[in-house]
Amino acid sequence: MSRIAYVNGLYLPHAEAGVHIEDRGFQFADGVYEVCEILGGHLVDETRHIDRLLRSLGELRMAMPMSRAALGVVMREVVRRNRVRDGVVYVQVTRGVARRDFLFPAGVAPTLVVTARPADRAKTEMTAATGISVITLPENRWERVDIKTVGLLPNCLAKEAAKAAGAREAWYVDRDGFITEGGSSNAWIVSAGGALITRPAEFGILRGITRTVTLEVARRLNLTVEERPFAREEAYAAVEAFGTSASLGVMPVVRLDGRVVGDGKPGRAARALRAEFHKVAEIAP
Ligand code: PMP
Repeated sequence: MSRIAYVNGLYLPHAEAGVHIEDRGFQFADGVYEVCEILGGHLVDETRHIDRLLRSLGELRMAMPMSRAALGVVMREVVRRNRVRDGVVYVQVTRGVARRDFLFPAGVAPTLVVTARPADRAKTEMTAATGISVITLPENRWERVDIKTVGLLPNCLAKEAAKAAGAREAWYVDRDGFITEGGSSNAWIVSAGGALITRPAEFGILRGITRTVTLEVARRLNLTVEERPFAREEAYAAVEAFGTSASLGVMPVVRLDGRVVGDGKPGRAARALRAEFHKVAEIAP
C-alpha cells in the first residue's frame, strides 16, 4: 500500500508529493511542526498539539493555513488513508514559497504538509521494558527552543552522537551544568526521596505535551513533583531517570553517560506513569 501525504490541499502518494525548491522551510528552516501520537486510530492530545502549533506560528508571525477544525479533518484523513492504527501523524507548516530573501515575504500562502506513519507498538513496549541509554552533550541550540521549528540539525547531530556511543537519546547540558532536555524528549529524574524532578518549561526547553500530561498523571498518582533545573551530577545520583515524548511516551532511562541509573532497571515511577498515561491524555473520538 502506498503512503499518502497531504500537501496544500491534495492527498498524494509520497513519490509524487513535494514542495517547491524555494519553499522557506527548505531554504531557511522557516517552519514549525507537530508530532501527534495515534493510538488505536485515535489522535492523542490533539487539542494540546494544535494549541502549541498555533503558539509556534504566532511566535514566528506565521499564518495558520486553515482553521483548526479543518486541520483536524485533514489529520484524520491522512491517518485513515494510511490505515495507521498505532503510530504518529506529522504536521508541518512553513512560511511558504518565495524568492530567496532573508526578509519575510508578503502575501505568501503558508505550506502545509501532513503525513502519518505506523509505529511498532510491541517494539516500543519492549524498549520501555528494558529502558534506554542516554548520553549528555553541551547545549548548542538557539534560545528559542520553546518554538517547535524544523531547524533540527543540532538535534540530528546529538542523536548521531548518541548512536555512536551506543545510546538512544542525548540530553543537553547548559553552561551551568544543568540538563535542559533531550534531542527529541523532555528529561526527568527521580530523587532518593521519591520526588519527580523536571526543568520548568518557561524557557530553554520545549514545553512537551507528554511532559504536561505526565505532570497531571503524577498529580493523580500523588507523586511529588519539583519543577526545577537539575544538574548532570544530580541525574547521575538519581534513583530513576526517564524521558517523555509523543512518539515514545514515558521512556525509562537506565544508563546515563555509561553509568547505571538506580538499579539499572526501569524505575517504579516511570513504569507507573507510562501505564497510566493514556488514561489521562485526551483521546480524540
Ligand atoms: N523536546 C524536544 C526538543 C522535542 O523534539 C520533543 C519531541 N517533539 C520533546 C521535547 C517532547 O515533546 P512532546 O512530548 O510534545 O512530543
